[in-house]
Amino acid sequence: MNSKADLAIIGAGAAGMMAALYAAQSGVRPLILEKNEKAGKKIYITGKGRCNLTNDCDLQEFLREVPVNPRFLYAALKALSPQDMMKLMQDAGCPVKVERGRRVFPVSDKASDVTRTLLRLLSQAGAEIRYGAEAEELVIRDGLIAGVRLKDGSEISARAVIVATGGVSYPSTGSTGDGYRFASQTGHRVIPPSPALIPLVTQEKWCAELMGLSLTNVRLNAVYNGKTVYSELGEMLFTHFGISGPLVLELSCHLRGIPLDALQVTIDLKPGLTPDQTEDRLARDIASGGKKQTVTLMEGLLPKRLAAIFPGLCGVDGQKPCAQITANERKALAGRLKALPLTVRRKRPIEEAVVTEGGVDVREINPSTMASRLIPNLYFAGETLDVSAHTGGYNLHIAFSTGALAGRSAAKMILT
Ligand SMILES: Cc1cc2nc3c(=O)[nH]c(=O)nc-3n(C[C@H](O)[C@H](O)[C@H](O)COP(=O)(O)OP(=O)(O)OC[C@H]3O[C@@H](n4cnc5c(N)ncnc54)[C@H](O)[C@@H]3O)c2cc1C
Repeated sequence: MNSKADLAIIGAGAAGMMAALYAAQSGVRPLILEKNEKAGKKIYITGKGRCNLTNDCDLQEFLREVPVNPRFLYAALKALSPQDMMKLMQDAGCPVKVERGRRVFPVSDKASDVTRTLLRLLSQAGAEIRYGAEAEELVIRDGLIAGVRLKDGSEISARAVIVATGGVSYPSTGSTGDGYRFASQTGHRVIPPSPALIPLVTQEKWCAELMGLSLTNVRLNAVYNGKTVYSELGEMLFTHFGISGPLVLELSCHLRGIPLDALQVTIDLKPGLTPDQTEDRLARDIASGGKKQTVTLMEGLLPKRLAAIFPGLCGVDGQKPCAQITANERKALAGRLKALPLTVRRKRPIEEAVVTEGGVDVREINPSTMASRLIPNLYFAGETLDVSAHTGGYNLHIAFSTGALAGRSAAKMILT
């Protein structure tokens, strides 16, 4: 069945819902086309189900966390700042709290509350969502967008269209890269998608033995060509394929253009101690250790599971009594406590990435409106654009704010 809308928005994710809200509040009736049976499927899994929806920082701090195309976001962040987003949720009955690193979560710790709140606001504002409506292609007439053709063959005619279809990671949530097809269809350049915020596969098989072990307060260092490309304190996790967790996901954002086989990654397991202090501490422990085995000695310095394999990683027999540890062995143990090496083989597949890097080339999008520079009544918002950020609530906020700006701009265009 063919139908008509002022504004058609493809995708009911963070960007599409916010676009619809801002458009409806600006006086037009938007129709969201969503291929899933519910809205915001990806939002449900964000922040481990708690949804780190934004970051309570200022504009400059925000832009520092966006390695790809930060300046493109100025107007969007002015249209909807992190503080605007927090107020929007609070005023709508979803109180939020600020945690470590100024990460913002709903007080309830439930991502579903964020989606539910947005859906309530959308319904109050008169926006419509059609579920099970998969957009197949854009309808173009006389160089303008005339509407959207759905997979079932029906056509929605609209005076403007916003593409908010997300990237290609976690495709089970509906983000299958359809927006890139719509962009190409209209002559837009698409930067090839690649994984960002992605776990890393290591050569070392011992990582698998430690699967599930999380290290807190360690420093992850990465050096390429003698230059430090990453060095941060925090938390990381061993997995069956290698390494993951916040530090590793962050590191993966710093690897653009770096051949992974030339990357030297080390974990500083004792970041609070200098190398000399580490060796002194170890020397004292060894001196008082007597018949204690080396593995037991290491348990005083490391989590038990890591302590069990650590001497082996340093070429030291774990069963050896402390009294028999040689000076060279002590040096090896101390050295690896400060720099445990890992060989990164590759990134995990893009489907497992928290965000997709690449996407619609922002040079062809007007940053003040999110409108296409090629087709004036076509807009893009959210992860489908080539903008991505570090963890901390920035990516969802990019989706919310570019959506808000696209919705408001499209409404203005329709009403003039
Ligand atoms: C595991 C995980 C955890 C994350 N945690 C956080 C976090 O805590 N904080 C944070 O800031 N970011 C987080 N992110 C990133 C964040 O979720 C995304 O950047 C954000 O959701 C992107 O929003 P979007 O609206 O652009 O796209 P999406 O959320 O991908 O939404 C796109 C929507 O479009 C629909 N769609 C696609 N194609 C079509 C079509 N042809 N027709 C109709 N509908 C279509 C999809 O079904 C989907 O509903 C996380 C991501 C993952 C995978």
